[in-house]
Amino acid sequence: MIPFLDLKAVNQQYRDELVAAATRVIDSGWYITGSELESFEQNFAQYCGTKYCIGVANGLEALILTLRAWMLIGKLKEGDEVIVPANTYIASILAISANKLVPVLVEPDATTCNLSPENTKAAITDKTKAILPVHLYGQLADMIEIMDIAKQHNLLVLEDAAQAHGASIDGIRAGNLGDAAGFSFYPGKNLGALGDAGAITTNDDELAQTLRALRNYGSHEKYKNIYQGTNSRLDEIQAAMLNVKLGYLDNEIAHRRKIAKAYLDGIDNPAITLPAYYGDSHVWHLFVIRCESRDELQQYLADNGVQTLIHYPIAPHKQQAYEQWNDLSFPITESIHQQVLSLPISPVLGMNDVQTVIELCNQYSPQ
Ligand SMILES: *Cc1c(COP(=O)(O)O)cnc(C)c1O
Repeated sequence: MIPFLDLKAVNQQYRDELVAAATRVIDSGWYITGSELESFEQNFAQYCGTKYCIGVANGLEALILTLRAWMLIGKLKEGDEVIVPANTYIASILAISANKLVPVLVEPDATTCNLSPENTKAAITDKTKAILPVHLYGQLADMIEIMDIAKQHNLLVLEDAAQAHGASIDGIRAGNLGDAAGFSFYPGKNLGALGDAGAITTNDDELAQTLRALRNYGSHEKYKNIYQGTNSRLDEIQAAMLNVKLGYLDNEIAHRRKIAKAYLDGIDNPAITLPAYYGDSHVWHLFVIRCESRDELQQYLADNGVQTLIHYPIAPHKQQAYEQWNDLSFPITESIHQQVLSLPISPVLGMNDVQTVIELCNQYSPQ
């Protein structure tokens, strides 16, 4: 079986260093907001090129707390509209509704599956106050156009960078392209902890200060609470794991790019549409092909020993959680959800296995 992602093998590569780092934390006697978190925040801010990084409990909370901080600072208020791609992972949308802001779903660009600048422009109203572009599958959204639109209309931009650690455009990395960015270090992400973790990056002093308090009960100083905050801290063990793995991120991205190139060069089947690819802006968190007979192709690959996944099978507006949107129509989004299939890609997937997947894809013919 060629697995979609062998997480155990991914972390085995660094086993000795991970064990040493965990041991260091265990022996330190200090488990929450200590030197490991401080050093990871510095390292990751430096990696992204931003002034600040604030570690939090997970990627969803990175997005929720950033929007909440903007509300506390007075840049957003209940009922403001936030533009978001209709085909994103549901977390991007949950972050908006959790703050009683109004998600405005827009159709993505049909080729890249990322937020469409044209559709964004068309969706702007007097109530629009922010845009939440998602760097889906690891490819940057069109941030140059999006920032331009934001500037013209005085909108905040929160990048959902959960899938795009290290993706860059003109040398500027994800996390440093908008006003703030939310990252996830869920174990399967390109930079993954060994549990839940997340972070926000920004260059904004006031936002960074507010977030530091919000994640820690609304407090900068013990037992002095200036906001109704929450507990959303990135613990020392996870920060230590991330400090080890951050050192290998660029190598891992290089391997993902090698696999992606092999798929792009090797797969040649009129039934399969390959993903659009724009240089360093893609770090290939997922290699997503499209096929009209997607379910059949997935079954065929499974029958031949290749595990694939679907990101994502149900569009957010078709979810029971957002019942009020179930009758809305987003044809591009719906066709993406019906056709996408993610092929195996990971830092430990061997090129022989990649070749096997390519050959199987080329031998596939729809029934
Ligand atoms: C993974 C992911 C999130 C949420 O991250 P968690 O750490 O699982 O909370 C948010 N947005 C996108 C696009 C993601 O892929």
